Amino acid sequence: MSSRSTEPGPGTLPGLGYRFKNPELLTQALTHRSCGPRHNERLEFLGDGLLNFVTADLLYLERPQVPEGDLSRLRARLVRDRTLAEIARELELGPHLRLGSGELKSGGFLRESILADALEAIVGAVYIDGGFNAARELVVHLLRRRIDELPDAEDLKDPKTRLQEYLQARGLPLPEYLLVSESGADHDRRFVVACQTSLMENSPEAEAASRRKAEQAAARKALDALTGKPGS
Ligand code: MN
Repeated sequence: MSSRSTEPGPGTLPGLGYRFKNPELLTQALTHRSCGPRHNERLEFLGDGLLNFVTADLLYLERPQVPEGDLSRLRARLVRDRTLAEIARELELGPHLRLGSGELKSGGFLRESILADALEAIVGAVYIDGGFNAARELVVHLLRRRIDELPDAEDLKDPKTRLQEYLQARGLPLPEYLLVSESGADHDRRFVVACQTSLMENSPEAEAASRRKAEQAAARKALDALTGKPGS
């Protein structure tokens, strides 16, 4: 965040790297609905659209080989509440939020969605205050490290999907998942599933508390064996 240092003072926040011409917009962006009529919901709506668009634009430009479905998955990971709340915590937004007494009592200042919404509202407020390029720069500033650290789009898919695509790409039949055993009392069932593919003599087995989870775990073992990449 050092590349965008801005002296602390009215109309900005440490680490934000943007100073508002109209500091009231920043105040509004930090104001929860519980705290009065000039709250941040409309700015949040705007910021949500900007975050989605700017992130789409960045991924489109920076990942020319990635198909649409994977771009969507990557973007979803960047703009979901959990990620935005993490960024809000890094900026230490919490103490700056303006919340009504009810929200304060319920520990609202820690709630993920309130932090994420305030960050979205700040993006919307920067757009109103400084225009699209300022909002775009802010989004890039906020997300840069996470965009660079995104896993390969492949890794966001579940193991069964990846195994299926691996085999299809080689013109091979789909894997089969065989229930090897089912045991335990009703509240503590264990399922053992084997994953059979035409490429492997052995069918890797995995155990889990549901058949679906056991299938995913077995698919992961098969993929690891086929690609020689443990833990992929
Ligand atoms: Mn939101």
